[in-house]
Amino acid sequence: MNYHSHLDPKTSASFGDALLASLAPDGGLWMPDTLPHFTSEETAVLGAKSFADCAAELAPHFTDERFTKTDLLALCRDAYNFDVPMRTPKGDVLDPALAPVAEDFVLELFHGPTLAFKDFAARFMGRAASHLMGTTKQRRTILVATSGDTGGAIGDAFLDQKGIKVFILFPKGGVSKVQEQQLTTMGTKRSNVQAICVDGTFDDCQQLVKQAFGDKALTAKHDLMSANSINVGRVIPQSFYYFWTSLQAKAAYPNRPLVYSIPSGNLGNLTGGLIAKKMGAPIDRFVIGNNANDPFVDYLASGEYTPRPSVPTLSNAMDIGRPNNFPRILSLYDEDYDKVRDVCWGASFSDVETERHIRRVYTETGYIMCPHTAVGHLAMEKFAEDVDRPFTRITVGTAHPAKFADSVERILHTDIPLPAPLAKAMKKKKRMHVMAPTLDALSDYLADNA
Ligand SMILES: *Cc1c(COP(=O)(O)O)cnc(C)c1O
Repeated sequence: MNYHSHLDPKTSASFGDALLASLAPDGGLWMPDTLPHFTSEETAVLGAKSFADCAAELAPHFTDERFTKTDLLALCRDAYNFDVPMRTPKGDVLDPALAPVAEDFVLELFHGPTLAFKDFAARFMGRAASHLMGTTKQRRTILVATSGDTGGAIGDAFLDQKGIKVFILFPKGGVSKVQEQQLTTMGTKRSNVQAICVDGTFDDCQQLVKQAFGDKALTAKHDLMSANSINVGRVIPQSFYYFWTSLQAKAAYPNRPLVYSIPSGNLGNLTGGLIAKKMGAPIDRFVIGNNANDPFVDYLASGEYTPRPSVPTLSNAMDIGRPNNFPRILSLYDEDYDKVRDVCWGASFSDVETERHIRRVYTETGYIMCPHTAVGHLAMEKFAEDVDRPFTRITVGTAHPAKFADSVERILHTDIPLPAPLAKAMKKKKRMHVMAPTLDALSDYLADNA
């Protein structure tokens, strides 16, 4: 499979080169030239496999000759060694025996090592990049700016992968307590993953990374690479779980339409879902939940796209005023607003509404949602108000509530037990380099440590 720049179809690259280059030379986002399409006979076979094995069947359609089928099967089985459950808030797992009572499921994508859905993409990407380093004898330095979840997932996924160093830039005091602990306790002093605490905001961190990529000498010296969702290697693996879970849901409830709700920020997760639908996944509609940062929901309602500065909210991983995958979505639908609106529906919610919803779901069912998942679940409820027949609802659960214990415990007045990987990280000593938000400070640090 080849990839092209969304700005110019003639600028093309292999999967491996697109992944290592992050952006096209013209500054565009890499897009797959074509998407595979599977018939219902083929999807039946894929749906009967385990998630990891299904992913390994999809992956060869997106990679290049540097990855054999055997490589990809080993890679997917190693990356996806955790559960991908769909549960009702009452705790029942998706099962035809539950029809017609149950139709409201949460797809819990937070059972990976860093307890957020970003593990799915990061673990595939980390292993793919490391495989490429092995075949080309190159090396790369990843700079990643994080408001919380991305840094943890990328650091964990790349820890001890050969040929790659990772520097995670996070804003001082700008991530949750649990997230900071996770970011600063990976590996040892000599590991290939290091945390940098920037004395500034998340925007400063992102700006620094952008400046570094814009500096030709620095980029060449360290072979810099991005692991944010502008990288096509982050987006493609996110289609795998939509593909596989939609087949499970359709097998359980063959006669009902199937709708996913996705709490969204940079729209990378949604882009994965749209790619899965184009590959033949039996998904009827996508609902998009935004917090107060809602340029995409506005676009769906009006056809006007107005990026804007972000404002802080309870669901901070979605505090994005200029979603970086928006151009990819337009490109998938021929830049046609009507086509996007046929597939996507959106609604946005305030922090007050989100808190109230977390409380209501907990009171009614005992289920604890993270603030992001709650925004998605709210959007699904609102969408359902205008639908007059049963349909299967799948809200994408993007993070474990314990990652946001600071806010969720305050909202529910109850303690959230820490899952094992978090409990372990909480006991470790934090290690980080504290730095001013300037390119000089970053260059100096890279010169000594990259
Ligand atoms: C990153 C993240 C999101 C937003 O996903 P996008 O792909 O940027 O739209 C939502 N929830 C959580 C918990 C996240 O970490």
